[in-house]
Amino acid sequence: MEYFLTEQQKTIKKLARRIAEERILPVRAELDEREEFPWAIIKELADSDMFRVFIPEEYEGLGGGCLELCLVVEELSRVCSGVAVSFAASALGTFSLLEYGSEEQKRKYLPSIASGKRLAAFALTEATAGSDASAIKTTAERVEGGYILNGTKQFITNGGDAELYTVIALTAKEKGPRGASAFLVEKDTPGFSFGKKEKKMGIRASSTRELVFRNCLVPAENMIGREGIGFIMVMRLLDRSRPGVGAQALGVAQGALEAAVDYARTRIQFGHPLIAIQAVQHILANMAIKVEAARLLVYATARTIDSGARNFTEESAMAKVFASDTAMSVTTDAVQIFGGAGYMRDYPVEKMFRDAKITQIYEGSNQVLRDAIAFELRKRKGRRE
Ligand SMILES: Cc1cc2nc3c(=O)[nH]c(=O)nc-3n(C[C@H](O)[C@H](O)[C@H](O)COP(=O)(O)OP(=O)(O)OC[C@H]3O[C@@H](n4cnc5c(N)ncnc54)[C@H](O)[C@@H]3O)c2cc1C
Repeated sequence: MEYFLTEQQKTIKKLARRIAEERILPVRAELDEREEFPWAIIKELADSDMFRVFIPEEYEGLGGGCLELCLVVEELSRVCSGVAVSFAASALGTFSLLEYGSEEQKRKYLPSIASGKRLAAFALTEATAGSDASAIKTTAERVEGGYILNGTKQFITNGGDAELYTVIALTAKEKGPRGASAFLVEKDTPGFSFGKKEKKMGIRASSTRELVFRNCLVPAENMIGREGIGFIMVMRLLDRSRPGVGAQALGVAQGALEAAVDYARTRIQFGHPLIAIQAVQHILANMAIKVEAARLLVYATARTIDSGARNFTEESAMAKVFASDTAMSVTTDAVQIFGGAGYMRDYPVEKMFRDAKITQIYEGSNQVLRDAIAFELRKRKGRRE
């Protein structure tokens, strides 16, 4: 397939693949087993300028966009999506600054994110506010010189390991969804601490933690955007980041497909390799079709976003839903092709199967995103161009 990537995009993809194969592959099982944050690999990615990919040149980035980010996430996920999501979550935590940050905030924070010196994270979810994000309870009370944050965020990727957190909190409780605002909170701010570290089914190299705010004073200049636009920002930022989850899913699916084809070539039953059996061939063919379709949808959506399109809610949701359903189905089939061996931790498809599941859940569950797609369909009059 010709994906019409530029020379720079091809170079980025190739470099990400090389790091994944040379540095991540040898340690992925161990990182998963020990549920260990991949600091050595994060450093490697930083040294190879991977964190610069999604940052504009004026802030010491390489000036790439959504597609470049997706290419890196895809290649890292092909080998280990636990590592990939630690990288991708930093991009999600940075989108608030890129889209809504003041010039001063951008100059202050973006160069250190671009160099990989500081990781970022994005904190919206709470115990009582998952799919219904408007139910958040964390408050930000205006006081002289800033805002006092109180509340607890749950399931935050890079929690405890990131230095910079985009935190959504209510500045006007009585206004409901129109009363939320976004803040950039630095890790060492007094009153900010970390709670429970989750033990997860998959993506176990990534950290997922509670963030606890107790009378945490955040300077007024750390508000991102303006008061009351927190939820509008969240919707837009997630629209922008969802192709990245699609790319994560796509990478896992690609890795599982390759592993299944290799295994089917070498596993002999009834005197033939599995790949000579038509029933197995058809499973592999269906896996390949889905992976290719997911790639085209993820890349096309990323290009739509990079073209400066204003509304891409529908495309972004479709890319995430389709790629994540593909990842789940392809990794399930890969385990099936490996048979009993696929159920064992000695083979990579067991981990890929566990890693795939999260892509159907976070950044908008696939049920909620199907609602969003249907909403766009209902409000549109006539056919789309
Ligand atoms: C590993 C991991 C990392 C995460 N990282 C982050 C992060 O970095 N930052 C952050 O803010 N959050 C993060 N999250 C939170 C994640 O985005 C939420 O878990 C997700 O949005 C779903 O919310 P929930 O878990 O509360 O499920 P619920 O909202 O309780 O949903 C449970 C089930 O009900 C379904 N459901 C709910 N409402 C509807 C509806 N209206 N229609 C149809 N079905 C519905 C859902 O699809 C789901 O199947 C992370 C979660 C995990 C597990």
